Amino acid sequence: MVEGYIHSTESFGTVDGPGIRFVFFLQGCPMRCQYCHNPDTWEFKKNNAISVDNAVKEVLKYKNYLTGGGVTFSGGEPLCQIDFITQTAKKLKQNGIHIAIDTSGVTFDGSKKYDELIKYVDLFLLDIKHIDSEKHREITGFSNENTLNFAKYLNKYNKEVWIRYVLCENLSDSETDLIDLKEFIKNLTCVSRVEVLPYHTLGVKKYEKLGIDYKLKGVNPPSKEKILWAKNFFNEK
Ligand code: SF4
Repeated sequence: MVEGYIHSTESFGTVDGPGIRFVFFLQGCPMRCQYCHNPDTWEFKKNNAISVDNAVKEVLKYKNYLTGGGVTFSGGEPLCQIDFITQTAKKLKQNGIHIAIDTSGVTFDGSKKYDELIKYVDLFLLDIKHIDSEKHREITGFSNENTLNFAKYLNKYNKEVWIRYVLCENLSDSETDLIDLKEFIKNLTCVSRVEVLPYHTLGVKKYEKLGIDYKLKGVNPPSKEKILWAKNFFNEK
């Protein structure tokens, strides 16, 4: 029996997809983004196990509040638990629930599992940490190959995608960074939105608590002007 390992849930999420959403934050992520504000989701711990049926039941308690919204699987990296998500999403779709997945695409390997998964997913929130593979590696520890291949795969199957991009001083905020990313997105007809997520320091205390070195000490969140510039840049035709 497939089980999901859950870090936490949120029953009235408003920032991970359209409308009000029930959000599953799944435990475990192979990446180590320098600006990650959830380092407590990294470890692949088998705690808070939940069966597919119980996950569905939990969501259905809130069904009446999810009008215009739905369910989002986030993390951690949710697609490390692709079997659990596929089975849960399938049952939720049978109940008319809109499904979104917030992923970095790092696990994408082109296997048949993805062909099955996308049948039950309405929207992918795809985090592209950097369009330059070396800079992506510097930020996350991984190249961006799987992420970009996943974007092309979703485009091929015409799945709606929102691109998410963390704007962080000296890591991802140069004009060249944005120009190159926009150029890549231009070729993806499936992208309906680009969300600029300003770097913030809300997770710093978690690093201290977990005894993990925080690499971005002293880096400030981007200014309002810089955020506006980046948002306008992606919205300009
Ligand atoms: S992919 Fe997400 S959860 Fe994983 S390290 Fe990066 S920001 Fe954190």
